[in-house]
Amino acid sequence: MSNKDLDYDIIIVGGGLVGAGLACALAGLKSNGLKLRIAIIEAIPFRDAAQPSYDDRNIALSQASYRIFNTLGLWPDIIKAATPIESIYISNRGHFGAARLHAKDHNVNALGFVAQTRAIGEAFKQRLQTLDNITLICPATIIDLHITDERANVTIEQGENSKTLSCSLVIGADGAKSKTRELLGITTHTYDHGQTAIVANVTPEKPHNNAAYERFTDSGPLAFLPMSKQRCALVYTVWHNEVEEILNLNDDDFLKRLSERFGDRLGTLTKAGKRGSYPLALNKADKTLAKRAILIGNAAHSLHPVAGQGFNLGVRDIAVLAEAVHDALNENLDIGNEKCLKAYQQWRQTDQQRIISFTEGLVSVFSNPLSSVKLLRNISLVGVDLLPPIKKMLARQTMGIAGKQPRLARGIPLN
Ligand SMILES: Cc1cc2nc3c(=O)[nH]c(=O)nc-3n(C[C@H](O)[C@H](O)[C@H](O)COP(=O)(O)OP(=O)(O)OC[C@H]3O[C@@H](n4cnc5c(N)ncnc54)[C@H](O)[C@@H]3O)c2cc1C
Repeated sequence: MSNKDLDYDIIIVGGGLVGAGLACALAGLKSNGLKLRIAIIEAIPFRDAAQPSYDDRNIALSQASYRIFNTLGLWPDIIKAATPIESIYISNRGHFGAARLHAKDHNVNALGFVAQTRAIGEAFKQRLQTLDNITLICPATIIDLHITDERANVTIEQGENSKTLSCSLVIGADGAKSKTRELLGITTHTYDHGQTAIVANVTPEKPHNNAAYERFTDSGPLAFLPMSKQRCALVYTVWHNEVEEILNLNDDDFLKRLSERFGDRLGTLTKAGKRGSYPLALNKADKTLAKRAILIGNAAHSLHPVAGQGFNLGVRDIAVLAEAVHDALNENLDIGNEKCLKAYQQWRQTDQQRIISFTEGLVSVFSNPLSSVKLLRNISLVGVDLLPPIKKMLARQTMGIAGKQPRLARGIPLN
């Protein structure tokens, strides 16, 4: 094996949504006129049924994620399987408060888009296959990490064999249970919400007209996101102890249960697809930087899906990290140096903290059965609907365009 197969500029551990997306963003950057050599270490092949990142889930992509993928030239492939969200209706089951957001009020083509994670993965995979400076090592897992002042040495296991690769910068994008994070000795703050998300595609009687519905109930939020063929992607949050019973309901009883919670704004619910379940917890790394190492995406922060922000936050991690690496290369700096890593961290921490607080605030206020809290949430929804500055703030947060925007989100390519 030559050194060429062992030495890289960057090693990304985890080729899920965030790791593969990052590789696409870094691929065109050059060091001394040569493209960066990047390895992705991924445990589970892209199309494997056990792949946790690329599955049947349909997720909401924000306006900022759309802009970033558009600048990277990935959007034409993603939009083939995506549906625009033109309006969002937020309501509180059995109460008066409601808030509405419309794309046209905010001068955008869409507030966001709904796409299947598998289809997003397919777009990344096709791009990665065209790039000769990216090496995908899969199936392989990280088993050890040794970092010196000069290099980060990553030991990986591939079947019975192991080998050590070296790089200037290692990026942990290996999800909420990140082994990279563990090997770096970084602790996490974890909060179990006591809730599980049940997902399925459902078909309502009436057209969804590209509207997303977020309805808060005593057990937690219920979201209907618009999809193709007039279907909706359901994210139904329930307490852990309800999961088994709900997964075992026959389709008719399941649809009846959903209708009781959601009401009849889309008419009768006529069809339900296969159900899946995801236990929910907040996981936040106590720090996201170490010598020659960075954590991004779920390895740094995994969130409750109530506000549809987890991956969108990861996409902004990608855009800012690619910009920090680009700027370090332009200054002829070592990309693993502290200046480059700190530039990334300082920029990202405000957005990350704001989205974590926003999401956790929604979970605690809107999953709380106390009547005083119910009153507060009704008043908040009415306030959002009636007060334009608050509505604008909520829309900007939802679209991911609050705060300083990276170049990729402003349509400026990095190379
Ligand atoms: C029900 C639900 C709905 C959601 N809806 C939305 C939404 O609407 N909008 C939104 O923005 N976000 C949403 N999310 C969040 C989104 O799915 C995550 O933020 C996103 O998947 C994070 O991607 P990631 O690549 O960081 O981590 P992951 O998706 O966990 O990927 C990690 C990758 O690393 C690999 N890996 C793990 N360990 C190792 C190892 N030791 N060595 C090598 N590889 C390894 C895994 O195989 C995987 O490919 C939702 C999440 C859930 C559960």
